[in-house]
Amino acid sequence: MENKKRKVLIAGASIAGPVLAYWLSKFGFEVSIVERAPSLRLGGQSIDVNGPARRVAEWMGILDAIKAANTGEVGTQWVDKNNEVTASFPKEGAASLTQELEIVRGDLVEILYNLTKNDVEYLFDDQIESLEQDEQEARVHFARGHSGSYDLVIAADGIRSKTRKLMFGDEPEFRYLGMCTAYLTIEKAETDTDWARWYTADDSRVLLLRPDRQGTTRASINFLLPEEEYHKLEKADHKPLLLERLDGCGWEAPRLAREVEKSDDLYFDGIGQIKAPKWSAGRFAMVGDAACCPSPVSGKGATLAIVGAYILGGELARHADYRDGLKAYESLMRPYAESVQDLPPGVPRLAYPKTALGVSIVNTVMGVIASDAVQKVAGLFSKSDPEEEMTMDGKPLPEYGMLAPGNVS
Ligand SMILES: Cc1cc2nc3c(=O)[nH]c(=O)nc-3n(C[C@H](O)[C@H](O)[C@H](O)COP(=O)(O)OP(=O)(O)OC[C@H]3O[C@@H](n4cnc5c(N)ncnc54)[C@H](O)[C@@H]3O)c2cc1C
Repeated sequence: MENKKRKVLIAGASIAGPVLAYWLSKFGFEVSIVERAPSLRLGGQSIDVNGPARRVAEWMGILDAIKAANTGEVGTQWVDKNNEVTASFPKEGAASLTQELEIVRGDLVEILYNLTKNDVEYLFDDQIESLEQDEQEARVHFARGHSGSYDLVIAADGIRSKTRKLMFGDEPEFRYLGMCTAYLTIEKAETDTDWARWYTADDSRVLLLRPDRQGTTRASINFLLPEEEYHKLEKADHKPLLLERLDGCGWEAPRLAREVEKSDDLYFDGIGQIKAPKWSAGRFAMVGDAACCPSPVSGKGATLAIVGAYILGGELARHADYRDGLKAYESLMRPYAESVQDLPPGVPRLAYPKTALGVSIVNTVMGVIASDAVQKVAGLFSKSDPEEEMTMDGKPLPEYGMLAPGNVS
């Protein structure tokens, strides 16, 4: 292993970026993170830290902080337009959508920032404008006018990664899944409980309201939109389109429309996946959503970001030559990422019926699935070994603790 401290620049201070920074700095690298936003972006709904990501969180010593920040969600209820519950999936049930380690995305971002801020240089309100590389180094020019030299530059700036485009051009593909989603934080109302409430309207629309521990409510508005219409959307179209889709939805849509109008915390995007034929090119590489976004419908975006960042950090530490480290990272991580991206047939379309009859079928089917009898049978088949769950589809996570100068595992 080289004696000189290797310098790494990471773009993106959300989940993948800080997890990678944590491990790299533990392994003796000098790490900087450049974040385009002026401060941490704390928006978004609950995300799950499950499977192998839970094990990585345990090794990072943040499991208790994640548990303490639990949203308190007790399960998910399907409701009809009168807010009558048509199906209940309690957290502890076999078919629950609520995971044990459910945390609001922004809380996890803060935990990771606090864990790394003393060892990692954070550059907010800046981004990479151009980069080049040769045998000796990667040179980066920042939007704020300064430049720097690094051994490696890693894109961890999400599904829309601009850094990825600078590194790989148009080769990585954004595969649109035919659906748009908006997330926003709204005032808590009397109807909000500790349950997530899922409402299916006709015309392929779904509204979801979830509790948080901040005393507000996390809303998401979801609808199918044909690809040609999606590609024509500009930022200025987002709010008008959401208001149009909320119109005539029923249930609590008027409340959501008022919140959309006044929101300055709106996150709107097409749901899609990133398919990239390679994750590195010389001294450039990518991780998290930038490399292999599985889409929020997979429920595993944060898991892939955490596990991918851990393996990338570990493999770079384990190999003296960064080329070997990047190769090992991709060969360990890609099969797992591809299996997560492999969504069941009909997802997400099946959950978005077009007609009122379709809505009532979805509600009836969910009611049957939630019934005691079905839950008991499902429980018989879904009992799994907790150790097995913390693997990557049966493949154990590599352990890198012994590589660190200090005791990290
Ligand atoms: C504001 C926000 C809200 C979200 N809400 C949800 C949600 O409710 N549910 C869900 O499943 N997923 C949500 N996501 C996506 C989720 O965080 C990711 O799917 C997953 O956790 C993987 O994280 P990541 O670190 O790879 O990417 P992301 O979480 O997308 O983070 C990318 C980071 O890079 C920064 N960035 C962007 N461009 C640049 C640039 N050019 N230079 C430097 N930095 C840049 C962004 O500001 C962000 O901090 C949200 C993401 C964001 C940014």
